[in-house]
Amino acid sequence: MKVLIVGAGHAGGSAAALLRASAFEGEIVLVGDEPAPPYQRPPLSKAWLKGEADLDFLLLRPETYYAEQNITLRTGVRASSISPEARTVTFSDGTAETYDVLVLATGSTGRRLPIPGADRPDLIELRTIADAERLKARLGPGRRLVIVGGGYVGLEAAASARALGAEVVLLERLDRVLKRVTSEPLSAFFTERHRREGVDIRTGVDVSAFEDGGVRLSDGERVEADVVLVGVGALANDELARTAGLDCDPAGSGGIVVDETARTSDPAIYAIGDVTLRPIPAHGVTMRLESVPNALEQARQAAHAIVGRPQVAPEVPWFWSDQYDVKLQIAGLPAEADRTLVRGDPASGRFAVFHLNGDRIVCVEAVSAPPEFMAGKQLIQRRTPVDVDKLADPAVSMKAVALEPAA
Ligand code: FAD
Repeated sequence: MKVLIVGAGHAGGSAAALLRASAFEGEIVLVGDEPAPPYQRPPLSKAWLKGEADLDFLLLRPETYYAEQNITLRTGVRASSISPEARTVTFSDGTAETYDVLVLATGSTGRRLPIPGADRPDLIELRTIADAERLKARLGPGRRLVIVGGGYVGLEAAASARALGAEVVLLERLDRVLKRVTSEPLSAFFTERHRREGVDIRTGVDVSAFEDGGVRLSDGERVEADVVLVGVGALANDELARTAGLDCDPAGSGGIVVDETARTSDPAIYAIGDVTLRPIPAHGVTMRLESVPNALEQARQAAHAIVGRPQVAPEVPWFWSDQYDVKLQIAGLPAEADRTLVRGDPASGRFAVFHLNGDRIVCVEAVSAPPEFMAGKQLIQRRTPVDVDKLADPAVSMKAVALEPAA
């Protein structure tokens, strides 16, 4: 039995290791288009960008691991097509690999704005080691970084660039940063914190063109830059699957449609990580997630399905972000909420926003508040009702907020 994994990132690298850890004795071939063995991306906008991490820290496993585990790792090679009938994948170097089971783990790519200059080679998007190296080389005291997009990657890069002494201007089209992914109190907190650190955050501004040495706004103003970072969301790298006739999301940011075991519409093909449109049983929805916990959960789902091991209970989606000394941790999804509650004082730098449906927590956004995050995640997972008054009182421990589930 041969498992071919295309995409040697967080999900692909983890799937190969989990297969071996699940006593899979067949052939494993892991192919990726980047030069490095599988590595973690979160430090690229944080410790790596600040020069505080080396390659050993980034790598998911030591380089020698793959040969030791009898995993064939092919780097610097891009898959160009899949033939589901022949169970074969062809590659950019003219080679091909057959498979019994194929795992697609091709991740996502930064969205490109439909404006003049969007294809300029001097623009940076922060997705790979090479991107982070390019950005780091252009940052330093007195250098001016303009970031287009106030999402996680943009804000984390802003914090790291300030640590390197660069001037930072962050341009966000919507009326608040992180609007698509967090609640209003979180946006307000991070805006205030970044401004205090010297980042010039401008919301409600539309970039209309990328130019030599700067960007042009739709009102005609020009913002000068030594370097421009674009972080305006990502699209699933699902073209291989689409061309091969697998079910994919025709709308939004795309995504290969998978079930709760990461299986695609072709029973011999799994898809895992950023590239998937997946069911989230805890919330009864289907969506694309871009996070390390998601990549790991789906890698495990696919590995278990391939070796015939029982699946473990699905996880509540969760995510983290580090900016300055602030640790943000989010669990659950807020869509079903009918109200929100803030526990603690944002001015103290430590608080949590709870999203509730009746007396049940459906999402927690914890700012430097690990107990709130951990207890909140568990309460979401178990669907345990809570005493809302106690939850609102930071003097009451998180252990004491749970009500016994109704009989
Ligand atoms: P990736 O890790 O992107 O790997 C996909 C790989 O497939 C890539 O190497 C790609 O080049 C390769 N590939 C694509 N097409 C082909 C092809 N045709 N042939 C061969 N190879 C191909 N998540 C968190 O939870 N917390 C964080 O703090 C956080 N910070 C982040 C910071 C940055 C700067 C970035 C970019 C991401 C961050 N993430 C974070 C998200 C997280 O890193 C991703 O969700 C995770 O890497 C997804 O894993 P993946 O394997 O699906 O995709």
